[in-house]
Amino acid sequence: MSGLVKGRTLLLGLLLTWLPIGAGAEIRVVTTNTTLADLARQVGEGRVRVESLMRGPENAHNVIPKPSFVVKLRKADLFVHLGLDAEPWVPNLVRAARRERMLPGGEGNVDVSRGIALLEVPSAGALSRAMGDIHVYGNTHYALDPLNGSIIAGNLAEAFSRVDPTNAALYEEQTRKLERSLRELTDSLQERIEPLRGSRVVVYHRTWPYFLKRFSLEKLAEVEPKPGIAPGPRHIADLAERMKRSGIGLVLVETYSNRKIAERLADLAEARSVVLAQEVKALPGVESYQALFRHNVEALLAASSESGGTP
Ligand SMILES: [Zn+2]
Repeated sequence: MSGLVKGRTLLLGLLLTWLPIGAGAEIRVVTTNTTLADLARQVGEGRVRVESLMRGPENAHNVIPKPSFVVKLRKADLFVHLGLDAEPWVPNLVRAARRERMLPGGEGNVDVSRGIALLEVPSAGALSRAMGDIHVYGNTHYALDPLNGSIIAGNLAEAFSRVDPTNAALYEEQTRKLERSLRELTDSLQERIEPLRGSRVVVYHRTWPYFLKRFSLEKLAEVEPKPGIAPGPRHIADLAERMKRSGIGLVLVETYSNRKIAERLADLAEARSVVLAQEVKALPGVESYQALFRHNVEALLAASSESGGTP
């Protein structure tokens, strides 16, 4: 690289780093996942340009950052992520971006877990590693309760208003609109899933506690013996026995989980495995945050009727 080109690249880098958001310019938002991207779009409609690093079907716990992620972070005004240890690849990524504002506590670093009532928080003094290598601060899949979507939206609106105070009222208004939409959606889906109320299910990864709680379902057990740990044949055989004894009809599976194992378990237990969308765009047709919940509720109802109902 010639000295001149290098100098220009450096200058461009500095400009990208230091340019404030001008009047009329969009806020450049990069999110870790597609769910946060859709919420950011709804809260910032007309004022934000949003890009997700993940595409949708992947496991957020196991993403390997690409060099392009760093480039995207260098050009962004805000970087939105789930916080906790949801995305263990994020701390290295923000360090690699070499921008102070993207580091934890920096103006551009938006952790949307603030204000969320976490489930499955390990009790004080418990050896967190005994839980597996993830979820050590509590369960990170909080976006799968539609009413937590409103809390995330509030955090996004605050961050957008901080970098673009001129449009604070707009972000506030769009957040209120999203909150109403999520409240109505929750009410209608709770009614829709009423026939399954109190049903027990088996889940592959511990992705679903917030979703199950909001829609009045209960979990019997997990296919993974610990979060992120693959099950052995003995675990599957024992679990199938428990399922049969308890009359469990459904195994909930993420798009990235081992579907063969889930299907084998379902066969052994004379149950059905059902693949749900753990993120927006994890499955075809799940194009928005609201569509994710509609899809998952309908998929559970359909699988349950195929399995002859679940007690
Ligand atoms: Zn997890």
